[in-house]
Amino acid sequence: MVKIKPDQIAFDIDGVVADTMSAFLRIARDEFGISTIKKEHITSYWLEDCLNLDEQIIKAIIDRILTDPFGIDLTPMDGAVEVLTVMASYSPLRFITARPTKGPIKEWLETVLATVPAKRIQVIATGKHEIKVEVLKELEIEFFVEDHLETCQTIWNHGIKAIVYDHPWNQGSVPFIRIRNWQELGQMLRL
Ligand SMILES: [Mg+2]
Repeated sequence: MVKIKPDQIAFDIDGVVADTMSAFLRIARDEFGISTIKKEHITSYWLEDCLNLDEQIIKAIIDRILTDPFGIDLTPMDGAVEVLTVMASYSPLRFITARPTKGPIKEWLETVLATVPAKRIQVIATGKHEIKVEVLKELEIEFFVEDHLETCQTIWNHGIKAIVYDHPWNQGSVPFIRIRNWQELGQMLRL
């Protein structure tokens, strides 16, 4: 089994650390009155491809998620806080997101990782999926946990070990390591 040292790994945020899709479904229901969509309906990373939802509504919900993680009650994935908190005592934590701005999500991370000093939480917002690989190479990261299959493939092509966080939107046979929860990731760590 693969063993990972805390300073060898970095993380995507949405769909890995943050339970962003649950927030999406909640906003759709509470703010737009749409209660028919369920997580298993989200079979593509690109929501307009798999949901019968007006593109403007999707855009509005995503905008809420990007700008106001506290207002929408964004919650961490089960077990994420526990594993990251342990890791932080061995190495600074690195998060690389395709979000266009890092301010709101960095503040959210600092809040949910309440016992981790803020200076040990590094967030890089690339604005684009394609740029993640450059950042990972520059930081000499060996493992990256990500829920977007195309990004996994891109970084894999550059010799970085992609770890795909299992969701309905990233199914299929892939050469990457696949994890189903944070407990599985915790077991891969060599502390
Ligand atoms: Mg993601």
